[in-house]
This record gives sequence, C-alpha cells and structure tokens, in this order.
Amino acid sequence: MSTKRKAVLVVMDGLGDRPTPELGGMTPLQAANTPVMDILAKEGQNGLMNVIGPGITPGSDAAHLALFGYDPYTNYPGRGPLEVLGSGLETKPGDIAFRSNFASVDKDMIVTDRRAGRVFTPEEQAALQSVIDGIEIDGVQVRFLATVEHRGALVLRGEGLYANISDVDPHETGKKILECKPLSPESKRTAAIVNKLMIEANRRMRDLPLNKERARHGIPPANAILLRGPGRHDEITTLKEKYGIKSVVIAGGALYIGAAKYVGMEHALVEGQTGTIDTNFHNIALKTIECIESDYDYIFVHIKATDNASHDGNVKEKILAIERTDKMLGEILESTRDKIVLVVTGDHTTPVTIGEHACDPVPIVLWSSQMRSDCVERYSEFDAAQGALHTIRGMDVMPLLLGYAGHIEKLGA
Ligand code: ZN
Ligand code: ZN
Repeated sequence: MSTKRKAVLVVMDGLGDRPTPELGGMTPLQAANTPVMDILAKEGQNGLMNVIGPGITPGSDAAHLALFGYDPYTNYPGRGPLEVLGSGLETKPGDIAFRSNFASVDKDMIVTDRRAGRVFTPEEQAALQSVIDGIEIDGVQVRFLATVEHRGALVLRGEGLYANISDVDPHETGKKILECKPLSPESKRTAAIVNKLMIEANRRMRDLPLNKERARHGIPPANAILLRGPGRHDEITTLKEKYGIKSVVIAGGALYIGAAKYVGMEHALVEGQTGTIDTNFHNIALKTIECIESDYDYIFVHIKATDNASHDGNVKEKILAIERTDKMLGEILESTRDKIVLVVTGDHTTPVTIGEHACDPVPIVLWSSQMRSDCVERYSEFDAAQGALHTIRGMDVMPLLLGYAGHIEKLGA
C-alpha cells in the first residue's frame, strides 16, 4: 500500500518581519487576516527557521537553494546562471552565464549609454539577438536571449571555461568598456574570449539597419553588450538523482524559476503569474492543484509580492499579499487536503520598517491532514516560536517535507 503524498512548498518571499509601529507593534503577518494559515498552524507543527544559518542574512537565490536542500555555501553558482536559466535560456554544466545589457558606445568603445536608451521593439530585440546568438570564438559558442527592454541573457559554452573574471561594465558613461581580466589562472581563456566577444558583438551590431533607424529618431544605438554577474553552471546532483522525485516550480520571477531549474525542477507556466501584488493567485492555485493531481512528487510555489511590499515599506500591501496567499492556500487545500504534505514559510525576513533583508528567522508551518500537532493556534513569527519544530535550518525543509510525504527510505533495518 502506498502512503505517498505530494510535497508542496509555498514560499512567501520576505515574509518574516519585526514589530511594526504602524501596526501597534504587531508584524504584518500578525495583523493579516489568515484563517487558512491559522488552521494549518493549529493542525500542523510550527517553528522558526534560519534559512541559511543563525545570523546570516539570506539573499533570495541562496535561500531558495537551501530550501531545496542544497548547501548554498557549496552549491550557489551566483546570480547570473540562475537568472539566465529562469529567463528561458537553457544552460548546461560547464557553461558560463551572464546577465547583459544592450549599450551604446562610440568608435573608441567608450560607453555613451549603459542601456542604449532602454526602449526596444520586439523586432529590434529579435534582430540584435540574431546577430549575437551563435557567435563562435576560439571554439566557444555564444548563446544569447534578449529578455526585457535592454536586458538579455548570455551563455558561453565550451571546454575549460571558468567564471572568475573581472567586469567589463565600467558602470558609468564616458568610460571605455573595461578589459576583462582573469582573477585566477584557470580563467585566463574565458577572459580572453570575453574580450574578443566585446569586439565581435560591436562589429556585428554597429551597422545594423535598426541603429540607423534609431539615430533618425534620436535614440541611442544598440552597438555593444555589457556583461555582468558571471557564474558557472556547475555539476549538481538534481532532485531526481538525490530523491528520485519529479519536481516542478510555479513562480513569476526569473530568479526563482532559475534556482528551481538549476536543481532540476520543471517550470509550469501560469497565465497571469507575475512577481507583483497583481499576480493571478487564483490561476496559481489552479495550476498547483493540477500539478498535485498529475505525476509530480514535489511542487514549489513562489509568491514574490510580500518581499516587494517589504522593500517598498508598504505595510498595507504586505498584509494584502499575505491575505491573498491565504485565500489561495484555501483553494488548494479544498481539493487536495488528503493528498499533500504542505510547508508554508518565507525565504528570509524583510522588515517593512527597514526595507532590506535581515537575519531574523522566519516562521514555518509543516502540515498534513495526518500528523501530530503542537499547541500553536495561529500562524505568526511569535506563535511559531512556541511550536514543535523549534528552530530549524532551511536545509531541513526538504527532508522534512519528503519524509512526511513518504519519499525517504528508512535508515537501518
Ligand atoms: Zn527572497
Ligand atoms: Zn528582497
């Protein structure tokens, strides 16, 4: 008899908070009306979580790797590869991935606009993409995807590439594109290829008809690319290899999709899902239910709106994001409650009072319709501190979820 359940991880980004004067000393989570999360807290096990470690302020990407069960100190490839993967450009182990900008330079490669005027039509993006994607330099293949406005994703693919190189972006106008230098002996070849790429991209871009057209309208030309945040897609044991599970991400932001894909998750596209408060919570619920009903063993759902509101210092919007997530959880539970093990948590604390990530632990609730509970009655930072899970680390979440879902073998006889 199979007792397996589906493991569902719901992360509200930047959920944790501190006492907020505007709320009479309550946190936004305490002040929010969360009937569903409160039932989860009552029936499940609660605790606090240091997502990376005590005293460590997590970046979202590193935090998510920890939540997926990966030590971020040894598995974090940098933001570049994760953003690139999340933007839809596939990477493979050994690839070097960058985020990039279209930029304007003069004939001496002096940067005159770091974003080439910012405005691009889809036709211009496609034309620029087609001249950069497919460049080959000394046996290294360049893959390029234009994403939003002046932004893009770029991948170098070939033997013996390493990401320990200096930046080419001078970060201000009036300065020449910087020479890329190796920061370790093994990166020498990569740096040389980046330098050749800067010249080759400029050669291919500068005379495009679209730049003549832009000049006619007084818009800066897109005749160079600036690369930033290089990272190497390292060999990583996927979730499938580690646990034998089929996993999927439901997220709006490229960074989260990328972090999930990096560990082997598939991406389920949801119509209307964005990284903002206007994301379509109902469609996210429907897609989550669909994934639970299909052959996925593990479903990761990411809500970004809580963190955006926190960075903006917008207390009302943080509360609203929490309440909308609560309603979404209600929809999911209504039809799947006996099929899942659920964790609802955050990836770090972002107090609305300071608008930045902080090291305070986040609340976590672990719930299934068949488990021992504790004495906690409400879902909040303060109540969670009284719960049975006590204080755990982000890397504990995956084993907890999969253990209760029946995906981890007994150790010993
Ligand atoms: Zn985050
Ligand atoms: Zn943030």
